[in-house]
Amino acid sequence: MASMGDPMQGLMMDMPLLITSLIQFAAQYHGDTEIVSRSVEGPVRRTTYRQVFARAQKLANALTAYGIQSGDRVATLAWNTDLHLELYYAVSGIEAVCHTVNLRLSDEELIYIINHAEDRILFFDLDLAETVDRIASKLTTVERYVVMTGPDHMPARIPDNTVAYETLIGEESERFAWPTFNENTAASMCYTSGTTGKPKGVLYSHRSTVLHAMASCYASTLDLRTHDVVLPVVPMFHVNAWGVPYSAPIAGAPLVMPGPKLDGENLFNLMDAEGVSIALGVPTVWMGLLDHMDAVGRKPNGFDRVIIGGAAASETIIDRFELDHGVKVHHAWGMTEMSPIGVVNTLKPKFSDMSRKEQMPIKVKQGRIVYGVDMRIVDDAGSVIPNDGQSSGRLHVRGPWIVDTYFKADESALTEDGWFDTGDIATLDADGYMHITDRAKDIIKSGGEWISSVGLENAAIAHPAIKLAAVIGIPHPKWQERPLLICVAEEGEELPSLAQVKTFLSDQVPKLWLPDALEWVDELPLGATGKILKADLRSSYAGYTLPEK
Ligand code: ADP
Repeated sequence: MASMGDPMQGLMMDMPLLITSLIQFAAQYHGDTEIVSRSVEGPVRRTTYRQVFARAQKLANALTAYGIQSGDRVATLAWNTDLHLELYYAVSGIEAVCHTVNLRLSDEELIYIINHAEDRILFFDLDLAETVDRIASKLTTVERYVVMTGPDHMPARIPDNTVAYETLIGEESERFAWPTFNENTAASMCYTSGTTGKPKGVLYSHRSTVLHAMASCYASTLDLRTHDVVLPVVPMFHVNAWGVPYSAPIAGAPLVMPGPKLDGENLFNLMDAEGVSIALGVPTVWMGLLDHMDAVGRKPNGFDRVIIGGAAASETIIDRFELDHGVKVHHAWGMTEMSPIGVVNTLKPKFSDMSRKEQMPIKVKQGRIVYGVDMRIVDDAGSVIPNDGQSSGRLHVRGPWIVDTYFKADESALTEDGWFDTGDIATLDADGYMHITDRAKDIIKSGGEWISSVGLENAAIAHPAIKLAAVIGIPHPKWQERPLLICVAEEGEELPSLAQVKTFLSDQVPKLWLPDALEWVDELPLGATGKILKADLRSSYAGYTLPEK
């Protein structure tokens, strides 16, 4: 018979999962481990977990003295540096919300997001002073500005009520009595990049952040270890640098913060000098680094593996890293709404004896499901389809580090049965490998079949004359839509004709996918997180006429 009454409770400690515990642990047991930052002022700055924690306490005292209270939003407009790390821990640790704003957004978008979040203080890096000064009069809730430098580096143009970071924390004590509170309290906030409409705020909790950080360290996730040297190229304003500022302290791993200089040469030199073993970022950043690695004919000292996410990693990029330079590639996928990690690509042992050619179709998949994230694939009618690795449909997810409701939204973002629809079209197989075939709004519908724009782009970039490629659907009277391939040429290569490109692609993609037209452009529009802006392309090519067949 089923037991009646309350279930028997476990008799274990009930300790909330709070973000402060991460840095406290690193400061105590990995106190001398270095955090190396390329400062916005220029020079490389060296500090440690112990010092970051001490300075975070000074900042916590300063913020509390100023009157920042539980739930208040404190914004940052800043690059990846040790100061930004101090802000992460100080703000969340006093029960306030660290709102990282994407500094690549337009003035209008910045104003919208900062006002929507109702940020009270705005911390900004030196090189953003002009931007902040320009928009300050439109920021309705910001009372105070803090420029992240010392008093001797004050920029010429700043809003009136601006103080230097070092002045703000200067006299404060290095001791702060961190409060204990409910683990579901909000800790940080990040807005989606708005490629799918108005930016929406995702409000992470202490619990979701700590669980995500713990899961990030698994061997089949990022496999972070004490002996790693970790470089998050992915910005701290882009889904909390994929959680690295929280996971590296668990591993006790040194952090290398690249500041504002993300071009191939600067990244290479910093990585080489610091012996970075693992680096994380979007494909566009890696193209720059790879070009520099090719030019100097070697990889940075100690570079062991690279995590590529945010947009699809093509076979070409995987080969360039792995075959040309001996750097292991792990493809990964996630979203702002997922803190962000959903899948990371590691090969199961049963695939290890396969040839590289046989492994490649698995390696290009976005990755293997991480414990803590649940997934399902749903067809247009809303029915769940089998995890056979073949049938594609809308990817739904759920788990303790996935959004429930957007900030200030009236209703939950979930389906009636509690799943989050990612807007991606994917397949999932019985081993848990997920493969994105497209974003729902980018997929090209042609004669009742689907053409994956991502699949076609990846096939096209393998052509030696094509550096970057984007595919959009153009309306077609008979087929509904047909693909237009828009390319940026590789320097010094002769431009192939449409017919030659089609011949090249015909081995790799179904005949139906072959593009009806080809356009060469000098550059493709990239969004604030380094993704190609398909919506912009669609409007630039609205009214485009496909050649007669
Ligand atoms: P936004 O949705 O506003 O672009 P995110 O940075 O949260 O902002 O992007 C999440 C989306 O990026 C995913 O839903 C997916 O479409 C795309 N994405 C992320 N990683 C990959 C990847 N490895 N391959 C293909 N697409 C990816």
